[in-house]
Amino acid sequence: LSPVHVIGGGLAGSEAAWQLAQRGVPVVLHEMRPVRPTEAHSTDQLAELVCSNSFRSDDAEYNAVGLLHEEMRRCGSLILRCADAHKVPAGGALAMDRDGFAGAVTEAITGHPLITVERGEVAGLPPEAWDSVVIATGPLTSPPLAEAIRSFTGEESLAFFDAIAPIVYLESVDLSKAWFQSRYDKPGPGGTGKDYINCAFEKDEYRAFIDALLTAEKVDFKEWEKSTPYFEGCLPIEVMAERGVDTLRYGPMKPVGLTNPHKPERRPYAVVQLRQDNALGTLYNLVGFQTKLRHAEQARIFRMIPGLEKAEFARLGGLHRNTFLNSPRLLDGALRLKAQPRIRFAGQVTGCEGYVESAAVGLLAGRFAAAERLGGEPSAPPVTTALGAILGHITGGANADTYQPMNVNFGLFPPVDERIRGRDRKLAYTRRALEDLEGWLKAAPAVAV
Ligand code: FAD
Repeated sequence: LSPVHVIGGGLAGSEAAWQLAQRGVPVVLHEMRPVRPTEAHSTDQLAELVCSNSFRSDDAEYNAVGLLHEEMRRCGSLILRCADAHKVPAGGALAMDRDGFAGAVTEAITGHPLITVERGEVAGLPPEAWDSVVIATGPLTSPPLAEAIRSFTGEESLAFFDAIAPIVYLESVDLSKAWFQSRYDKPGPGGTGKDYINCAFEKDEYRAFIDALLTAEKVDFKEWEKSTPYFEGCLPIEVMAERGVDTLRYGPMKPVGLTNPHKPERRPYAVVQLRQDNALGTLYNLVGFQTKLRHAEQARIFRMIPGLEKAEFARLGGLHRNTFLNSPRLLDGALRLKAQPRIRFAGQVTGCEGYVESAAVGLLAGRFAAAERLGGEPSAPPVTTALGAILGHITGGANADTYQPMNVNFGLFPPVDERIRGRDRKLAYTRRALEDLEGWLKAAPAVAV
């Protein structure tokens, strides 16, 4: 068998290489460190954790990322195996000794008889002779490769910064205060004229909200991120608030073209609009609310919005340097570039967000590439599993026009029976997921060699 080339030896690339090799497929793993460093990595280890040492909750019954851990374990994940082996006490979270973890991944990969690690930058599109490639170069993809991808896929298809607005679960929005309506009742393409959820402010509520934004704690840009200016089109809301008390009321919070059916006699003073974020219609984003406020501050302040007092957030806002593709537009369901199917993408560069999600997408890319190399067809996990939910989101479920990085969360899963509420609802998601995963694994075993 000729080798599959994996570019990037981070969390996703290491996992993809492992999945391939465990199926008997030879791999060349190209990692540019230490020949060429990134701004965030500080070692030459594979799977280096660039910031926190946590994979977040390990609760596979009530938490979506904990469920993803469990699914990955059952799929023979190297990243989870090394995380479990180097775990440190962290309550309900799976946190690791970072050097022990990265050292174990590096040892497993470099010691695998079917994996060759080549240290060097791939500084452009992979050569034609590489007939199967997984690009897993992460949020800090080196500039020459990023530019090559951008010129191949098109100007709008690769972002260098994320501008993340918070996302809430529809079921946590109070529709006795908020209402569905598009501005001037205009139906957008395929819309109904009731495409947005609107949350209206009275004057005093708006003033209190602006004050809270102005005094909230923010996260600083890292030194190497500071050279990238804000795009005027996606200023953080707290920066807009600093420009004047009415700036937001004339910007993303403008109240025009909307009538509050709960108070039809009063014209709203300001309005926050929420737009559907996924095809399932379970998630809504706060339009224009990209922010660098601290997460705890965001939850506190955004619950001041009338109708969002009890909002549950599937994702909080952010703004970082982050190279990622418009995957829903560019990739097929097996993570292949539609325009050049010999190339797959994996990890954070696909627009998933987080260590675990990146490794999970690497795991899938590795399985898919291996299935093809062995003469079969890639088999996608059921959409009811955490692996299937994140894959479905990045390859089609998300809205391509507003695509921004996403963590795994229950809003990405097809809803369970709506009569099941509270904690039982989470349990219903995770039980269904693990049952369906088992069926999938039986049909497509974790290790085929
Ligand atoms: P990476 O782990 O970054 O791996 C990509 C690899 O590709 C790197 O080793 C890089 O050297 C290599 N590479 C890049 N270009 C080339 C090239 N042209 N040729 C060869 N090799 C190349 N997520 C969390 O869950 N928790 C956090 O605390 C967290 N903190 C973060 C902090 C920062 C500063 C950043 C940028 C991201 C953070 N993330 C965090 C997000 C994300 O989960 C991690 O970046 C994660 O490492 C992504 O995994 P990956 O495999 O896609 O990319």
